[in-house]
Amino acid sequence: MSKEIDYLIKGYKNFRQQYFEKDKALYKNLVTIGQQPKYLVVACSDSRVDPAIILDCKPGDLFVIRNVANLIPPCEFDSHYHGTSAALEFGICDLGIRDIIILGHSQCGGITALLENYKKSKSFTMNSFLSQWVEIAKPACHQVINDHPNLSTPDQADICAQHSLLYSLENLNTFSWIKEGIDNGTLSLHAWYFDLNTGKIHFFHPEYQKFEVLDCYSEKESR
Ligand SMILES: [Zn+2]
Repeated sequence: MSKEIDYLIKGYKNFRQQYFEKDKALYKNLVTIGQQPKYLVVACSDSRVDPAIILDCKPGDLFVIRNVANLIPPCEFDSHYHGTSAALEFGICDLGIRDIIILGHSQCGGITALLENYKKSKSFTMNSFLSQWVEIAKPACHQVINDHPNLSTPDQADICAQHSLLYSLENLNTFSWIKEGIDNGTLSLHAWYFDLNTGKIHFFHPEYQKFEVLDCYSEKESR
């Protein structure tokens, strides 16, 4: 067995001893009652942005969808395979989750690939799964290149990652069961951006139409 895998097996041992054995009641409940997560989080596959760690959540708290650049595709009924849409449907229609959080982040490799690809060819090429997938954020890419043509690619990528959250919110509205929930007030959407440099989450304020730092210190009640 490689040393790299050894690291995971030691972690598994720690999990068994420090979490599973110590919190048997939690796992028993999760088995007998089943999962009842209250939050659906769409996060990037990036190894540095684990929503359960950033939000300090327990097993059963979060229903998580992770994909490259935390993107929401538009609702499309065709013969292709739609993993993100299927997970959204399960979370909202079957589990009855009422809060969707799209969690973007700085230094996103998927968003950077989209920008670099566009700059190289001045168009979007379809030569890989990755290129095709991140095209969902194409409008955000156009917007940042038009508005900030002289910024460096890393700075453009951070702005693009924030814009793309808003386009993903728009795409959420293309799913009838999500739009219905928003219209009748049973479903709330949240666009959050995690800055790896500061460790802070910035949330999109719909009234002010801009991202603001999420204030976690004014919350006095403990969990
Ligand atoms: Zn990312």
